[in-house]
Amino acid sequence: MTAPSAVLEDGHRELVDAFESFVRRELVPLAAELPETADQVPADLRTYVRKRSAALGFYAGDYPEELGGADMPFTAVVLLHHAAGRSGCVLAPYALAGSDGPSPLLRHGTPEQIERHLVPLVRGEQTRCLALTEPHAGSDAFRLTTTAVRTGDGWVLNGRKTFVSNAEHAGIALVVAATDLGDGPTAGATAFVLPMDQPGLRIGQRYEGMSGEPLFELLLDQVTVGPEAVIGGEEGIAAATALAMDSLSRGRLVVAAMCNGISEYALRVGVEYARERRAFGKVIGEYQHVQEHLVATRAEVEASKLLTLACARLVDEGTESPENAALAKLTASETAVRAVDRSLQVHGATGWVRGHPLEFLYRYVRMTTIIEGTSEVQKVIIARSMGLN
Ligand SMILES: Cc1cc2nc3c(=O)[nH]c(=O)nc-3n(C[C@H](O)[C@H](O)[C@H](O)COP(=O)(O)OP(=O)(O)OC[C@H]3O[C@@H](n4cnc5c(N)ncnc54)[C@H](O)[C@@H]3O)c2cc1C
Repeated sequence: MTAPSAVLEDGHRELVDAFESFVRRELVPLAAELPETADQVPADLRTYVRKRSAALGFYAGDYPEELGGADMPFTAVVLLHHAAGRSGCVLAPYALAGSDGPSPLLRHGTPEQIERHLVPLVRGEQTRCLALTEPHAGSDAFRLTTTAVRTGDGWVLNGRKTFVSNAEHAGIALVVAATDLGDGPTAGATAFVLPMDQPGLRIGQRYEGMSGEPLFELLLDQVTVGPEAVIGGEEGIAAATALAMDSLSRGRLVVAAMCNGISEYALRVGVEYARERRAFGKVIGEYQHVQEHLVATRAEVEASKLLTLACARLVDEGTESPENAALAKLTASETAVRAVDRSLQVHGATGWVRGHPLEFLYRYVRMTTIIEGTSEVQKVIIARSMGLN
């Protein structure tokens, strides 16, 4: 029987089939060679997967062809992220541009910044990191103490950033700092693009993440740069908040899509296990308490998928809305955390053992209710759209 969400997938089926076939034929065999308990994918393997996927046209599909992308509609990108999550293959997320790939911030770059920084990112030739969060600026992201002081036509940056993903592999850092035009920092933040070997910029503390992926502190000590480092040039000064808002919705929908895929994967392996595992003389799938775990996930993931795909289609139709993205991200990430938890419960000790895909996913999926704005922040956005604050 056709699932309701299949209605919204039509039109991109060939693309999704091609991506799934790439994952099955090329990535699954490579993933099988990784040690069972290795949480971190080696840097050279990530690079290979990224470049191969870019060469096949999947990696940064929604970027223009002249930059190395494939001019895909956003709905197609969302479906690819969904397929990556659903595959259960640990290498599949690296085949699609995520938080280390081409940044929507750089879409607002000057022509020189686009050529020098965005094109290599779209082609998968290099990766980047985003340094926004600070020790006292997380959800309240623009309460920054890192400053960029204007000196003539250049800038001097000082401060401390935390929880930065991919800093150890990145070629460039996008750093957001409070703007100081000579009379003290203003509320208007400015985004800079800096090479990772920029004098004065260095990686500090390394935070070991629960999924095995580390985060990093980035320290800026008298980082002196010219005007070419300001993303967007003169127009980008004190405009980082507006530029970032412009891309938040898409980023949240991509996370939602990956979460829906993860939920479907968890559901599939849960159902397979429940059909085979026997207890008290019956397969466990016959027990209603077990069915409850799987049926609840089925209903939630189908609804979540419809919501995400409908929001993606609205983006393609020119209606990008922060509250829609918040609704989709909140629903999908909370669903995925529950879906993996329930599937692990259905697997009993088998799913809890180190090296089992669900044991890894249980730790991996937990970040999704925190990244790109916590669940509570999504609720704040939704409440605001309802006129509640
Ligand atoms: C895996 C991972 C990768 C990350 N990668 C990056 C990166 O590459 N670059 C980067 O800059 N940052 C990154 N971050 C940081 C991330 O953006 C922040 O963790 C996130 O914004 C939340 O901030 P916080 O952790 O300081 O929590 P806080 O803002 O301190 O929040 C603590 C709690 O209070 C709640 N809360 C806060 N404000 C409100 C409110 N108004 N109403 C209701 N509840 C509220 C939150 O929802 C949360 O439950 C990453 C984090 C993780 C976990």
